[in-house]
Amino acid sequence: MYYSNGNYEAFARPRKPERADRVTAYIVGAGLAGLATAAFLVRDGQVPGDRITVLEASGLTGGALDGIADPSKGFKARGGREMEDHFECLWDLFRSIPSLEVPDASVLDEFYWLNKDDPNFSLMRSTTDRGKDGHADGKFRLTKKAQKDLTKLFLTRDEDLYDKRIDEVLGRDFLDSTFWMYWRTMFAFEEWHSALEMKLYLQRFVHHIGGLPDFSALKFTKYNQYESLALPLQKWLTDAGVRFVYDTEVTNVTFAHAGAKKTATRIDWRQGGEAGGVDLGPDDLVFVTIGSLVANSSWGDHHTAPVYDPELREGNPWTLWRTIARQDPSFGRPDVFCGSPAESTWESATLTTLDDQVLPYIERICQRDPLSGRVVTGGIVTVQDSSWLMSWTINRQPHFAAQPAGTAAVWIYGLFPDATGDYVKKKMRDCTGEEIAAEWLYHLGVPLDRIETLARDAVVCLPCMMPYVTSFFMPRKAGDRPDVVPAGVTNAAFIGQFAETVRDCIFTTEYSVRTAMEAVYTLLDVERGVPEVFASAYDVRSLIKAAVRSRDGEKLPIPKLVQRKLDKTVVGELLHRYEAV
Ligand SMILES: Cc1cc2nc3c(=O)[nH]c(=O)nc-3n(C[C@H](O)[C@H](O)[C@H](O)COP(=O)(O)OP(=O)(O)OC[C@H]3O[C@@H](n4cnc5c(N)ncnc54)[C@H](O)[C@@H]3O)c2cc1C
Repeated sequence: MYYSNGNYEAFARPRKPERADRVTAYIVGAGLAGLATAAFLVRDGQVPGDRITVLEASGLTGGALDGIADPSKGFKARGGREMEDHFECLWDLFRSIPSLEVPDASVLDEFYWLNKDDPNFSLMRSTTDRGKDGHADGKFRLTKKAQKDLTKLFLTRDEDLYDKRIDEVLGRDFLDSTFWMYWRTMFAFEEWHSALEMKLYLQRFVHHIGGLPDFSALKFTKYNQYESLALPLQKWLTDAGVRFVYDTEVTNVTFAHAGAKKTATRIDWRQGGEAGGVDLGPDDLVFVTIGSLVANSSWGDHHTAPVYDPELREGNPWTLWRTIARQDPSFGRPDVFCGSPAESTWESATLTTLDDQVLPYIERICQRDPLSGRVVTGGIVTVQDSSWLMSWTINRQPHFAAQPAGTAAVWIYGLFPDATGDYVKKKMRDCTGEEIAAEWLYHLGVPLDRIETLARDAVVCLPCMMPYVTSFFMPRKAGDRPDVVPAGVTNAAFIGQFAETVRDCIFTTEYSVRTAMEAVYTLLDVERGVPEVFASAYDVRSLIKAAVRSRDGEKLPIPKLVQRKLDKTVVGELLHRYEAV
C-alpha cells in the first residue's frame, strides 16, 4: 500500500490482484468502515462478492450512520455528518455506488449536484439571550497570545503532544475566543481532549479556516446518512453477492504467532445466544472494526430519559478489541479510549415538529423557510449562553425519506450533559425528550407561557445518550491505536476510527473509509495508490490565507526590510495576492 495524489492514480484501474480468486473475506461490523471494506474488496480487489461475509451485531447496516423512523416513537438519528470535498477516499468509493434516487447517477454525482444547486452556509451561527443573534459575526477574536498558542500548536511535532490535553497547550485566551466556540461545537472537542488530535484537525482542515464561521466549508447529503450513504452501499454490495449476517456478536479473533508472523486462525461469535465460529486458513482474510463511538448508546423517548450505561459486556466492540489486544502489544490499548466514559459522553436528541406552531421561531433564527427543501440552518446554531452548551441544526427537509410533509426534523446536542439547564432545572442527562424540547424552545425565544404546551403537543423529541461518542479524542500516544495492518500480520486488518493512519482525523466518515481502503490495498496488494490526505497543510497559499483569516483580516507583522526582500520573490507575490501584507 502506498499513498498517491493527482489524476494519474485516481483514474487508473488496478489489475486483478494475484490472490483475488483464492481469498475468502470476513468483515466484523457493518458500519461505514465494514461496508467500505467490502466495496473495495469487490471493486479494486476484484474478489467475487459471494466470497465476502459481513458479521454484524445489530440487525442493520450503517453502525453510527443511523436514521430511521421508529413507528411508535418518531424519527431518530444519533448524529448528522458535516462533510467536505476533500474526503478523498470516501468520494473515491461513492463515485462507484449508484444513487438510489437519481437515475444514472452515482452517490457522488447526486451529492455534487445537490451541493452545487444549494450550497451550504449559515445566516446565524450562534444565538444568545433567548434567540437573539449571538453576533459571532464571522470573527475569531483571537488575542495575540491566543494566535501565538495556536501557531505553536500547528507547528508542534506529534511526539511532543503525546498524552497532552488541549488545555495544557492552549491557554485561557484561546479557550475564551470565538474561534474555540466555533471549533469545539463544530467538532465536539472538550478542553480535556487530546492536544495531538486538535493539532491534526488544525492541519487537516487548514484550507477551511475561512469557511469555518459561516459553514460555507461544509456539504451535506440529501437525507440522513443511513439513507443517503449506507443504504445505497448496502444495495450495491448485496447485488454483488456479498452476504450480510446480522445479530452476530463477534467475541474473539484468535491469532497464532510464528516468529515475527501473526496470522488470524479463528473467529468466534455468538448468534442468538449460541456460540459459533469459523477456522481461518492463510487465504482467509479478516477485517475487524475495533471500538465504536456509538457503543452503549441508548435512546430515551419523549417521556423517558435515556439510560446512561457505560458497562462493557461480551460482544461489545470494546470488549472484542480488549480480547484481541491481549494477544499482542501491537494490537493497541483500547482502555486509553474506553477507560473514562465520563470524559467521552454527550447526548443528542432528534426532535420532529408535529405542526406549524414552532416553525416561525425557527425561521426567525435561520432566516430561511425550514420547509423549502433547501439549506435551512446551514450547519449548527450554537446557543452561546446555554449551560448545556446546546447546539442545534436543521438539514434540508425532509431529513428522512418517510417524513410527513409539513414537519421539520431538528438535531440537538449538548456538550455538557451534566450541567443544569437554564429553563429546565435538571441535568440534560436526566431529561425526557419533552424536557429537552422545552429547554430548546426556551433558547429559541418562545414566550414563557407557550413553552410547556408546545413541548408537550407540538413536537416529539427522542434523546440519545452516547457514553463513548468522543472516546477517540482521549489523550493518546504512539501505539495506543494499532496500525491498520500491524507489522507481521498476514491476513488481518483493523478498520474504523481506532485504527492508526497518518495525518487523517477521526470522528469523520472519511477516516472509516480510509482505513478500509488501506486495509484492502495492503492485504491484497492492490497496485493502485490510496489517495493521500489532502495536502493543504503543505500548501503555502492555504497557510497564508489561514494566517490572515485567523487574525480577522489583520495584515501579517512582517518587518519592512524583510518585506522588501520578499517582494522580489514569489512569496511576496503570494502575500500580496492573499492580502497578507
Ligand atoms: C453524533 C455523531 C456525529 C458525527 N458527526 C460527523 C460529522 O460531522 N462528519 C463526519 O464525517 N462524521 C461524523 N460522525 C462520525 C461517523 O459517523 C463515524 O465515524 C463513522 O460512521 C464510523 O463508522 P465505523 O464503521 O468506523 O464504526 P461504527 O459506525 O461504530 O460501526 C461499527 C459497527 O460494527 C458493529 N460491531 C461492533 N462490534 C461488533 C462485534 N463484536 N461483532 C459484530 N459487529 C460488531 C456495530 O454494531 C456497528 O454496526 C459522527 C458520528 C456521530 C455518532
